[in-house]
Amino acid sequence: MNTVLVTGTNRGLGLEFCRQYARAGWRVIACCRGPEQASALKRLASDNANVQIYRLDVCDHATIDCLAEQLADTAIDQLIANAAYYGDCRGHGYGRLDYQAWRTTLETNVLGAVKVAEAFTPHLRRRAKPLIVAVSSLMGSIADNNSGGSLLYRSSKAALNAAMKSLAIDLRSAGIGVLIFHPGWVKTDMGGPDALIDAETSVAGMMKQIDVFDISQSGSFLNYDGAALPW
Ligand code: NDP
Repeated sequence: MNTVLVTGTNRGLGLEFCRQYARAGWRVIACCRGPEQASALKRLASDNANVQIYRLDVCDHATIDCLAEQLADTAIDQLIANAAYYGDCRGHGYGRLDYQAWRTTLETNVLGAVKVAEAFTPHLRRRAKPLIVAVSSLMGSIADNNSGGSLLYRSSKAALNAAMKSLAIDLRSAGIGVLIFHPGWVKTDMGGPDALIDAETSVAGMMKQIDVFDISQSGSFLNYDGAALPW
C-alpha cells in the first residue's frame, strides 16, 4: 500500500492532505502534536482504517527519532513537511521584535521540517520513487518580497527553501526527490477568511503536481498549480 507521512494534521492543509490521500486509498501516517484535541482528524481516522494518528511535535527531536524507530519497518513513499508556525504577531514588528517567537518560528518551520525529513529518510529509501514535499510559502521568496514585514516567517521559509534545495541535490543520487510548494493563499487559521482559495483546491493542486513528479524536477519551487516561482 502506498504510504504518506504528513505533519501538522489536526487542521488546515495538513488535515486536507490526510483527507485527500485517504480518499485515494493511501495509508496515511497523520502526525499532530495534540491528538486528544484533534477532533476532525479523529473523525477521519475512525471513518478510514487507512488513517493512523501519531503524536508528533516537530520541535521535539527525541520524539521524532522515537517515531522513526517505532515505524522502522514501514516504507514511506511521500513525506509532507507541512507543520508550521506564523510568529509575526501584531505589535511585534521591527523595533519591538519578539526574539523568542522568532526562535520558535525557526525551530518549527526550518529545523522541524528538516529533522523529520532526516529521521524518515531511511524509510523513504525503501521505496522506488520517494518524495519529500516541503510546504513552504511565497513569503520565503526574496525575489518576490515587495512589501517587507513578517521578518520571522519570511526568514524561516527562505531558510526552509535553502535547506530543501540542498536536500534535493544531496538526495538525488539516492533517487529521493524534493518538491517545495507555495500552497496559495488559503482559507485556514493561518491564511484567514479573506484568503483566495480553500484548502481542498490547494491540496488537490499540489497533489496533481506530486502525481506527475519526475526526479528531473527535484528541487523546484512551485505554486500549488504547478507554476515555477522565483527564489
Ligand atoms: P494552520 O495554522 O491552519 O495549521 C498549522 C499546522 O501546523 C497545525 O496543525 C499546527 O498544529 C501545526 N503545528 C504548528 N507547530 C507545530 C509543531 N511544533 N509540531 C507539530 N505541528 C505543529 O496553517 P495552514 O494549514 O494554513 O498551513 C500549512 C502550511 O502551509 C504551513 O507550512 C504554512 O506555512 C503554509 N502556508 C500556508 C498559507 C495559507 O495561506 N494558509 C500560505 C503559504 C504557506 P497545532 O494546532 O497543534 O498548533
